[in-house]
Amino acid sequence: MEFLLGRSLKNNLYNLGLEENVREVLKGWKFNLDDIYEIESDAGLGNGGLGRLAACFMDSLATENYPAMGFSIRYDYGLFKQKIVDNQQVELPDIWLDSGDIWMMPRSDKNFKIKLGGSVSERWEDGRLKVYHENANIVDATPYDVMVSGADSEGVSVLRLWKASASYVFDMKAFTQGSYMHATRADNEAEIISKVLYPSDDHDQGKQLRLSQQYFLVSASLQSIIKDHLKNHPSLRNLPDVAAIHINDTHPALAIPELMRLLIDEYGFNWDDAWSITHRSIAYTNHTVMAEALEKWNEPLIYSLLPRIHSLIKEINRRFCLEMENRGVEQEKIDNMSIFSRNLVKMANLSVIGSHSINGVSELHSNIIKESVFHDFYTVYPERFTNVTNGIAHRRWLCQSNPKLSGFIGSIIGDDYKKDASNLEKLLTFKNDKTVLDELNKIKQQNKIEYAKYVKNTSGFILNPYSRIDTQIKRLHEYKRQLLNVLKIIKLYKEILDNPSKNVTPQTFIFGAKAAGGYYHAKRVISLINCISAEIQKNKSLKDKLDVMFVENYNVTKAEHLIPASEISEQISLAGKEASGTSNMKFMINGALTLGTIDGANVEIMESVGNDNIFIFGLTADEVEKQWRSGYYASNIFAANPEIRDIVDLLKTGFAGENFTDLANYLVLGSHNIADPFMCLADYNDYIRAHNDMDAAYKNKQQWAQMSLVNIAKSGIFAADRSIRDYANNIWNMKRLKPLVKKAAVKKD
Ligand SMILES: *Cc1c(COP(=O)(O)O)cnc(C)c1O
Repeated sequence: MEFLLGRSLKNNLYNLGLEENVREVLKGWKFNLDDIYEIESDAGLGNGGLGRLAACFMDSLATENYPAMGFSIRYDYGLFKQKIVDNQQVELPDIWLDSGDIWMMPRSDKNFKIKLGGSVSERWEDGRLKVYHENANIVDATPYDVMVSGADSEGVSVLRLWKASASYVFDMKAFTQGSYMHATRADNEAEIISKVLYPSDDHDQGKQLRLSQQYFLVSASLQSIIKDHLKNHPSLRNLPDVAAIHINDTHPALAIPELMRLLIDEYGFNWDDAWSITHRSIAYTNHTVMAEALEKWNEPLIYSLLPRIHSLIKEINRRFCLEMENRGVEQEKIDNMSIFSRNLVKMANLSVIGSHSINGVSELHSNIIKESVFHDFYTVYPERFTNVTNGIAHRRWLCQSNPKLSGFIGSIIGDDYKKDASNLEKLLTFKNDKTVLDELNKIKQQNKIEYAKYVKNTSGFILNPYSRIDTQIKRLHEYKRQLLNVLKIIKLYKEILDNPSKNVTPQTFIFGAKAAGGYYHAKRVISLINCISAEIQKNKSLKDKLDVMFVENYNVTKAEHLIPASEISEQISLAGKEASGTSNMKFMINGALTLGTIDGANVEIMESVGNDNIFIFGLTADEVEKQWRSGYYASNIFAANPEIRDIVDLLKTGFAGENFTDLANYLVLGSHNIADPFMCLADYNDYIRAHNDMDAAYKNKQQWAQMSLVNIAKSGIFAADRSIRDYANNIWNMKRLKPLVKKAAVKKD
């Protein structure tokens, strides 16, 4: 459903090896290429990490010569644009097609029709049962193709974005007789399907239009896959041998019943053959274990919008439950695994039942899904469960966004790391080389100065480039615990106010985050950050020591500017909640040090750099579980810790004229009897301890650069190229179209 692409111009010039040539040519006409880049709008067709992962994978697939097509929706409006007005988030429409559509190629020769609503009837004809879907609303799906280039490669990934429109001839008669509304109604009802991206990250809303979007996407995409297959093969029988269909979370889970429908109703397969083809073609990546994010649709909604799909899911489930009974599985377990539960259709269970492979996105997360949400499935089908740790497009996130560092790395170890990031390990030879360490510090300082200029020009904020840059950028969510970061900042703030002559390392805390429109708590935290920032701007001597900046409208481009200038990467989710994280990897490869919990891919980062090169704190996932079982009482921690009491008092007093008593109560009193549901207070002391360790380490510039170097050197395994090789080898059984040519990605001259 999501591809968070960001901009394409720089990536395409880079991949073609043309950036410097174009820069020179433009100079002749008095244009600066960097100014041209800033004109392009971000393609924000995704909420956060899940969509960005898909975009990074398109890059790696092309670079690694794997043939791939991504499918999504050509949303007229991507993720909303965030404005901060009176310290609050306001959502504005994201108008991206004005410059974003230049990368899209409409393919009106490749339309498909999608049926929604109506009713289903069955009739015996020619000795077999035929299914008729009648009185449906028919929507046209028109593909718009975006070519995603690979680095120095002939491979191109295609991203096929479907636009919805009414499939009927405009009712001219009604129109001329004055019934304009009637004539245009079907138009609007169809077009609304591809109008806007739902802005919820890690949260399910269960809205009918969202279900229409999901079905529209999978039906059009599967029809396209089948048509392409039948161009080269006489039947669909060998589909699983030559195609792999991967669903990115459960949003496209209707691909399972829809492929069954196409095979049975349109191509005449019997159930068992259709199931074998479907099941061997589809694989599923799980992205979350949090209950509020697991998609559950109301059964009556599926029944009325997708009557045929509803009956197919029923039959899939009936056969699955029967098989479990025959295997002697206990009824309670079967009930847990069933797709239907009371009035609800559980999409994660459908995804597991219909897929030959199920993976999590980090070692920790893949283990947790086997032990918790999918434990019963795991006991039945252990061989289906695997892990593929996420990765990032390191050419975008290092080579393109941090040219100084990338150029320096190339000058000492050569450029082959650009196509094979494991070569970054060669940097370890320079671990004790003073000139290399000095140069790393110098580059970080230059990036900070450049970023401060960019910030001043784009927002007017005055950022001290000589302060330590400590960054937390990600969707705003309780489990990610931006609030814990804020508690720490309030503590530091109070310390300086109480003792203005205190000698501290000046630091700037930077946040970037969008909150889903209806997510009250998240929006309040955004206000709190902005109010603290506003308060600090009023006090120059405070600002010199401790500053807070909120990046408005955080998106891919903002991340590309900020990450190369950051020194601390805040990855402080409650253990067990963040499936992987990918911004942790982007920071690591740019030499920032992680201040983080033992969660998601932080665990693997910690294992690769060693405990001396990372600042780890907090409860483990097991300890979190144990505490909840034995009872977690935030009010006890509050009562016993005077520092926390002071912070909570300051929340109640407020900042910049606004009090945050609601957030204070959230931490201590709770709503629905649960105070501090993501355990900020439980991890507070250890977080402060880790922050102090980091603060002490920062005083030794040489040692800091050394830690930074180790992080860069060890970041190679977090390249999306490696993730894609894992998927290709272990799940898709896919071969490269051509072997990789071993040479540097981009020639130096
Ligand atoms: C990488 C990225 C994310 C994911 O960040 P996490 O910290 O891993 O959640 C979200 N949004 C954007 C714009 C990104 O570039």
